[in-house]
Amino acid sequence: MFDPKLIRKDFPILSRKVNGSPLVYLDNAATSQKPRQVIQALVECYEQYNSNVHRGVHTMSMEATDRYEAARQKVADLIHAPSVEGVIFVRNTTEAINLVANTWATQNLGPGDEMVVTEMEHHSNLVPWQKVTAQAGATLRFLPVTPEGTLDLTSLDTVINERTKLVSVVHISNFLGTINPVNEICRRAHQVGARFMVDGAQSVPHMPVDVTDMDCDFLAFSGHKMMAPPGIGVLYAKPSVLEGMEPFLRGGDMVREVWYDHATWNDLPMRFEAGTPNFADAIALGVAVDYLQALGMDNVRQHEIEIGSYALQALGEMEEVTIVGPTEARLRGGLAAFTTDVHPHDLGTFLDQEGIAIRTGHHCVMPMHNKLGLAATARASFYVYNTNDEMDTLVRGLKKALAYFGSHALKP
Ligand code: PMP
Repeated sequence: MFDPKLIRKDFPILSRKVNGSPLVYLDNAATSQKPRQVIQALVECYEQYNSNVHRGVHTMSMEATDRYEAARQKVADLIHAPSVEGVIFVRNTTEAINLVANTWATQNLGPGDEMVVTEMEHHSNLVPWQKVTAQAGATLRFLPVTPEGTLDLTSLDTVINERTKLVSVVHISNFLGTINPVNEICRRAHQVGARFMVDGAQSVPHMPVDVTDMDCDFLAFSGHKMMAPPGIGVLYAKPSVLEGMEPFLRGGDMVREVWYDHATWNDLPMRFEAGTPNFADAIALGVAVDYLQALGMDNVRQHEIEIGSYALQALGEMEEVTIVGPTEARLRGGLAAFTTDVHPHDLGTFLDQEGIAIRTGHHCVMPMHNKLGLAATARASFYVYNTNDEMDTLVRGLKKALAYFGSHALKP
């Protein structure tokens, strides 16, 4: 049975106090906490078999290689990738997107071509494309966002057209919480012969994602948001697409044969993993995937719908709070960004004194904040170990903060 109170016991950090109060960790969209199993996997690696992978004939190197490759298989299974050839270990979502920008996009975008993202992108799925489209003489176009925070798909067929070569869309917005209809957008992209990429930083850790069903060409996500250490992430790509791509980084491990004047490339996926990979963290990511699979991704999603509904209702009942994005928990991921009359940074600092960790600022989604006329927002984001009691603590903390700042407001 899925029980957040039991799950919490696996996360040592959740029993610490912050500023004298029990920690209420509501910054999971920034990074998640790690269960004991993942921490233990790292300790085990460094205490028992730490050795470079794909190189040695000695026992420990083979053990490390086997575990590294087993982690790749676990990731492939999680996202329903047909084979491990399309699972490339990178540092994070940002690196995965930059890999595609610096390989597929630079190879395939030319003058007059178009590429499409949405208005709600994280900077990671915007800034790399600004550079490659400008260099190619191509145009970066945007699927618009409605005032309710959902994608306006009335212009789907005009924004994505015969000139479009690549479409890259955030699956769950880390600011609005919106779950975007990636299957529908993928179909349209393929209809015009464009490639389709998904920024899965907020979806893969929180809901079932099936790349075979979606038929996306690329999917990027980060281990640190799904219980694994920072510094390990994944680019999934269709092997047929990878076959046509030039390597990104060049050096050891990604080559088959090297002469003084040229080299040939290794098989997939190694061709895109130059140099010693972050095998220890990849192995820990495999353990995090095991943990999530044992919980069941459907259950993870269901929990976030439930806690999301509870949070939306509790925050919605507060007159001073305005929630950004769709109002229904089923239409959004497990996070809620909101504004009050108090500056989010003041709110965040006040809540921290109560042991409550939320994120404040623009959450790396500056253009969408600007479009909504907001400089910053406060954001509470949930994961498997968060409880309704913690939502109550957040609401109590917010009320206390608003009362404090209300009475300390500078009168004109
Ligand atoms: N995209 C989205 C939607 C995100 O939420 C984040 C992390 N906040 C990223 C991309 C970037 O992830 P990372 O910093 O792990 O590369």
